[in-house]
Amino acid sequence: MKPVAIIGAGITGLTAAFYLKRKGIPVTVYEASGRVGGVIQSLRQDGWLAEFGPNTLLETSPKIGQLVRDAGLQARRLDPDPKAETRYVVRYQRPIAMPGSPLGFLTTKLFTAGAKLAVLREPFRPRRRDGVEESIAQFVVRRLNQEFLDHAIDALVAGIYAGDPHRLSLTHAFPKLKALEDNYGSLIKGQIFGAGARKRSGEVAKDRAPKFSFDEGLQVLPDTLATRLGDAVKLNTTVTKLTQTADGWRVATSNGESEHSAVIYCGTAFKLAELKMMCGRAALPRSLEIGAAQQHRPTEDKELEPLDLSPFSEIRYPPVASVVLGFRREDVAHPCEGFGMLIPKIEGFKILGTIFSSSLFPNRAPTGHLTLTSYIGGERYPELALLPAEKLVALTCEDLRVLLGVTGKPAFQHCVLYPKAIPQYNVGYGRYRELMNKIENKAAGLFFAGHYRDGVSLGDTIVSGVNIVERVEKHLKITNGRE
Ligand SMILES: Cc1cc2nc3c(=O)[nH]c(=O)nc-3n(C[C@H](O)[C@H](O)[C@H](O)COP(=O)(O)OP(=O)(O)OC[C@H]3O[C@@H](n4cnc5c(N)ncnc54)[C@H](O)[C@@H]3O)c2cc1C
Repeated sequence: MKPVAIIGAGITGLTAAFYLKRKGIPVTVYEASGRVGGVIQSLRQDGWLAEFGPNTLLETSPKIGQLVRDAGLQARRLDPDPKAETRYVVRYQRPIAMPGSPLGFLTTKLFTAGAKLAVLREPFRPRRRDGVEESIAQFVVRRLNQEFLDHAIDALVAGIYAGDPHRLSLTHAFPKLKALEDNYGSLIKGQIFGAGARKRSGEVAKDRAPKFSFDEGLQVLPDTLATRLGDAVKLNTTVTKLTQTADGWRVATSNGESEHSAVIYCGTAFKLAELKMMCGRAALPRSLEIGAAQQHRPTEDKELEPLDLSPFSEIRYPPVASVVLGFRREDVAHPCEGFGMLIPKIEGFKILGTIFSSSLFPNRAPTGHLTLTSYIGGERYPELALLPAEKLVALTCEDLRVLLGVTGKPAFQHCVLYPKAIPQYNVGYGRYRELMNKIENKAAGLFFAGHYRDGVSLGDTIVSGVNIVERVEKHLKITNGRE
């Protein structure tokens, strides 16, 4: 059997390749850069461990823990210090712990009495029934109030998407919140009455999901999967063109051409827009379920037509700079015990938030020191992410001075710029998802998976990589049956 081509050795592509290989299906993974892991990047240096991309993996689905076990990484898994559960949100220019219980909510200084009343009133607000796609900002103001948007959701959205709540789509970026209103008429009622359904599905809400990493950081996971895949992973190999053939796909790369039984695109949306694609002219619109027997495949090049992938370049990926700083313990007044702090725009700081990295996991800083990982840029201040490293460090130190009482100079500093970091599932994102569905239906044997389709969190991308394997396997069974 010809191998399945997997484009991109980020966590989505590696997960898909790993499980296909375990099923005895040959694979080739093409990666444009010289390393595996995509945006995952851990650096061990002089007793510090810095994470520039994701810091933690949330176990929102049983498939995530299963991958860790299947990859033989259970012994290297690190669960966070239980004391590091507390999350802070900045208000009145200082970090305030987020309440962890209903009583805590009633007594917290994070929200005024007006916001607390808005929560009590939420179950009685009517649900929206006109089918208009809302931004998360519109939804929060409608169901709760402006204060919740400005002082909580704005910060949360910066923490997940580095995004703008006025643009992010409720339907596409926060589908679970939308489902709570659709199914239960209210967020509060949904939290209470939906617990049973969530338990049965095995899914865990993001705010309650266990989080973890590995002894040497998250990079351990892609590195291990790549080792299991051996020379099936081709680094420094950019895929430039896909051509449908009578029995699969021809993949052209910077290093030559190869024939494949199927292709899974696990790259980024902006790189997808640059790909040239030729597929069968007479290909009927169809779903995979119709079966390969009815699918027309081109037998000659003249039967091919180009497919326009340029609309995917419209998907916004704002830049984000990760600023990892290490300090002597005595130079930081705040205990920094907790997960980290989120900062709403209204508070006027430059950084989007900070993770208390060395409080979360052991061995991330030398004895007597701590590591703070801050993010700058996103949709809030895209231009700031592009500043030179010394300016990024200076801006971050100034914010940390006010918020955490950081006084000394950093003992460790390292900045990484992600020029195109996280796709924004803004209002109207359904257009791109529909386009992917249409292309998959037209071009049999081509599949899309990853952060630009199935959710941006690391957990979402792992689940996307696991799920695509089932669809590819089904396709291969149908086509092999035909042969
Ligand atoms: C700064 C930052 C912080 C984050 N923090 C968290 C966090 O704390 N928790 C969390 O859950 N998630 C976090 N995320 C999100 C999460 O890390 C990503 O969504 C996920 O890792 C994306 O994986 P992926 O494999 O889909 O894509 P990517 O990691 O983007 O990998 C895609 C790969 O495809 C390759 N490629 C693209 N086009 C081609 C081509 N034509 N030919 C060959 N190769 C190609 C690219 O070089 C790249 O290596 C963060 C993301 C960023 C940027």
